[in-house]
This record gives sequence, structure tokens and C-alpha cells, in this order.
Amino acid sequence: MNLLIMGPPGAGKGTQAETLTAKLDIPHISTGDMFRKAISEGTELGKKAKEYMDAGQLVPDEVTIGIVKERLSEEDCRKGFLLDGFPRTVPQAEALEGILRELGMELDAVLNVAVPDEKLVARLTGRRICRQCGASYHVLYNAPKQEGICDACQGELYQRSDDSEETATNRLSVYHQNTAPLIDFYAKRGLLKEIDGDRPIPEVLVAIGQALGRDWA
Ligand code: ADP
Ligand code: AMP
Repeated sequence: MNLLIMGPPGAGKGTQAETLTAKLDIPHISTGDMFRKAISEGTELGKKAKEYMDAGQLVPDEVTIGIVKERLSEEDCRKGFLLDGFPRTVPQAEALEGILRELGMELDAVLNVAVPDEKLVARLTGRRICRQCGASYHVLYNAPKQEGICDACQGELYQRSDDSEETATNRLSVYHQNTAPLIDFYAKRGLLKEIDGDRPIPEVLVAIGQALGRDWA
């Protein structure tokens, strides 16, 4: 399946994507993860992305579209993919249509995970990420068995620098201005599946399964 998961920062896209891509055996393509990897490796891409990410702003479309085009052209995406965090602007969504057309692919569904703003800042500031495997935890809502250590790979957990209260709040307003219009964009194309993300993680997964016609209860 060729899927896209969207929603505001902190909605639970990455959390659901981990399970979803394992169940469907498809690659998880997260532009945020790609940028963070580039930053940690000190590449040119990382240098370009860092100042925007630190400020909670979007990395320019031409940079972002280029890396997604390259990634979707890789062989493993032939069996399907889950795009997470891309597109985030209307020009990105339009570019994605062109990229998929060129590759002879199309989207099967767009999952829009909705969570009220007032819950999102707490989700973001409590988020912890595994340095080794990228798994996402929350100090209260999805705590690891041992504080600071990843359940899956025993890697060290860290807090993203853009998950401070100030930058998280900024990212939310960037979302409303630039990304929320994509809900209408995909609704018009008949692809949108609305998911209530304001409930426990396993319940969100079941709702996604139902939206995709699968029984994961
Ligand atoms: P996104 O990828 O959409 O930015 P994440 O999946 O990283 O969001 O989730 C943000 C934070 O909220 C993480 O700390 C995660 O553990 C937590 N979280 C995810 N889904 C839920 C949920 N349904 N209820 C409560 N907390 C959640
Ligand atoms: P995320 O990991 O999805 O929360 O993304 C973290 C940051 O990476 C965002 O705040 C942006 O600065 C940048 N980013 C990720 N995806 C995109 C995108 N599609 N377009 C522009 N910037 C992005």
C-alpha cells in the first residue's frame, strides 16, 4: 500500500508509523528523520536543514522535495511506502503528485490523525526518542520500562531540541498555516481517512486498521 500519514506535530504519526510499517512490511519515509540523520552525519543537507528545524520552521520546499523524490525512486518503495511528515505544504503535495506519476505509482489513502492543540504541546515536550533506533516514547503516556533506555534496543533516549515548549508552539502555528490546508487538498481527491488521534495509542492503531479495511483489534 502507498500511504501518507499526516497531522499536527505530536499527533502520533511516528508512533503509529512504527507499528504500521512493520505490519504492512513497507518502508517508513519520515522527512524529519531524514533531516535529523543528515544533521548527525554533518552532511550538506544537514547543514541546510538545521537552522530551519531549530527555529521550528519548514525546510524549503525545493530541498525537501528533492530528498523525497530520491527516496521514493529506491527499489524498496515498489512494494509500498508510508510517507510521514511529507508533504507539509501545498507545493509539496503538488510535487508529490508529479513524482508519483513519473514513477507510475499512486496513493491509496491519506490518514489524517487529529488531536486538539491543547494536548499537543504536552505530547511534544514529554517526547523522548531513541538515539539508536528512533523509537518514540513519552515520559507519561508511553514510558519506557527503564527510564532513559529504549525497550526495543536498549539505546539511549534523548529529547529533541525542537521539542522545547517555545519551538513546539511555533511548530503548531506553522502547521496551521502551511499544512492544515492539505486536509482539504486530499479530501477533494477522495483519499482522506480521518483518524481520531485523541485516545490511547493501541486504539488509534485499531482505528487506522479499520480505515484501511484491516482487522487489527
Ligand atoms: P509525531 O510523529 O506526529 O510528531 P509522535 O508519534 O512522535 O508524533 O508522538 C508525539 C509524542 O506523543 C510521543 O512522545 C508519543 O509517545 C506520544 N503519543 C503518541 N501517540 C499518543 C497517544 N495516542 N496518546 C498519548 N500520547 C501519544
Ligand atoms: P518532524 O520530525 O516530522 O516533526 O519534523 C521535524 C522538522 O523537520 C520540522 O519542524 C521541519 O523543520 C523539518 N521538516 C520535516 N519534514 C518537512 C517537510 N515535509 N517540509 C519542510 N520541513 C520539514
